[in-house]
Amino acid sequence: MWRRSIGSLMVSISRTYAAKESNMAQLIDGKSISQEIRKQLSQELKELVATGCPVPHLTAVIVGDDEASKKYVANKMVACQEVGISSETKRLPASTTQEELLQLIDDLNKDPLVSGILVQLPVPDHINERTICNAVHVEKDVDGFNEQNVGRLALDMDGIIPATPLGVKRLLEHFNIETFGRNAVVVGRSKNVSLPMAILLSSDGKYATKAMDATVTICHRHTPPKELARYCRNADIIVVAVGKVGLITKDMIKPGACVIDVGINRIKDEKTGTFKLVGDVDFDEVRQVAGHITPVPGGVGPMTVAMLLHNTLKAARKQFSDRKTC
Ligand code: NAP
Repeated sequence: MWRRSIGSLMVSISRTYAAKESNMAQLIDGKSISQEIRKQLSQELKELVATGCPVPHLTAVIVGDDEASKKYVANKMVACQEVGISSETKRLPASTTQEELLQLIDDLNKDPLVSGILVQLPVPDHINERTICNAVHVEKDVDGFNEQNVGRLALDMDGIIPATPLGVKRLLEHFNIETFGRNAVVVGRSKNVSLPMAILLSSDGKYATKAMDATVTICHRHTPPKELARYCRNADIIVVAVGKVGLITKDMIKPGACVIDVGINRIKDEKTGTFKLVGDVDFDEVRQVAGHITPVPGGVGPMTVAMLLHNTLKAARKQFSDRKTC
């Protein structure tokens, strides 16, 4: 008797749990999707080299001792190695002058063996970030931060699209998230992430950038919290790139919406005393309402790395073809 009632209780609990689980948003596993992309890129690279082309090469430049920057660049270099892109990191002291950095970029721009250049941001305060981004040759600008690449994206022309927004686009495509005519909100208006994201979401899918035809609202620091919540509640797709823990909460989500969390915040886990990474979205709560959601870590981050590799291969192909190298 007891055994039967405990058994039926267990069944009922597991059913409730399964129902709750099924209401949960589908997890957008950027890690596994990025691994598939990396495999595909590795194959494409092998085929390119087999036709007699040189191995594409990425040079990363770090100025200063920022630990996060060092870690990000090291990850990117490992990823290059994995797919077969040759790579090197040039480490410069924080005291490097803008002129010295510009000289190095000029040398790399002229080096025919270098297919891609990445200057890890942020650079120290005495160096003008925009001047540096514009100094990287447009064809070698694998970050897509040069004003010419930003302009090409804005004008629906073929160019190099910044890795993070391109990675988000690939995630949306992978999960068949409808963007055509849908309402999207981009939270954040940074020039390197949110602006290209908003352009890519709103531009015309008919042209070179194969963009997403959504109706886009951009929210930023001066958007009143009530308005932010109102815009978000009306959105089918929300992309958050701010760097503020818990900015996006459950009450701000339209049921079934797709929530893409670009934010990366390092916080202390009070239970263990160790540090962990979280995004800008209250993941556990929002996941109960959203249709799709990216985790942090393991969502957008790995896609950013994969798209950097994609951009490096694309840049190399164009340079080989323009110079008739192979
Ligand atoms: P950023 O340059 O600091 O930009 C942050 C943006 O958020 C700014 O436009 C700022 O507005 C806006 N903002 C600040 N407080 C806000 C609020 N309360 N409500 C709405 N908007 C607000 O940063 P970012 O480079 O775009 O990066 C954003 C986040 O994404 C960071 O956590 C970063 O670490 C992360 N990230 C992740 C990846 C990845 O691969 N996963 C890649 C790049 C960046 P103002 O313009 O008015 O200052």
